[in-house]
Amino acid sequence: MKKVGVLSLQGDFAAHGAALQRAGAEPVYVRHADELAGLDGLVIPGGESTTMLKLLRYDGLMEPLAEFARRKPVFGTCAGAILMATEVSAPAQESLGLMDMAVERNGYGRQVDSRVTSIKPEPDFERRTAPGKLEAVFIRAPIIRRVGAGARILARYGGDPVLVEQGPHLAATFHPELSADLRVHRLFLEKL
Ligand code: GLN
Repeated sequence: MKKVGVLSLQGDFAAHGAALQRAGAEPVYVRHADELAGLDGLVIPGGESTTMLKLLRYDGLMEPLAEFARRKPVFGTCAGAILMATEVSAPAQESLGLMDMAVERNGYGRQVDSRVTSIKPEPDFERRTAPGKLEAVFIRAPIIRRVGAGARILARYGGDPVLVEQGPHLAATFHPELSADLRVHRLFLEKL
């Protein structure tokens, strides 16, 4: 069984652990750098990216996570996707810079803010998982404003990318761990 770390400093790590378990992997809740040893991949959950960043610095996890990501796949959702991006705005903040993309925090603004919606994923996503619409739970989500040339967009909402793959890594601005559909987690597990 694949062992997948879930960064558990803050945010909805428990929901990711449960989703990974339902998808057939063993979740390992990670709070210290030495717990990264022996993992096949890592999930950075949603939550509040500024708080998570403070805790990452405080616990000396920035460099160990960047080093882990050079060897193994990382999947970030919402605040996790913000931490993975190379460029963060509104406001700008430091990040791990694991994926070449620009994100604008809380980019959907007040009208959308938080909502549950149904999106049609890109054909590539359906081919690699299973056909059908995807429930997308947005909670004060960032907007992905730019992706690098090497990125593959797997789903969009209102024209903007919401699920992006770049090499071994995956980022979602919504929360697949809060939906019953396990296709996004299964896709990540296939990358390990
Ligand atoms: N708005 C949050 C942030 O900027 C992210 C929200 C989430 O992860 N659901 O960190």
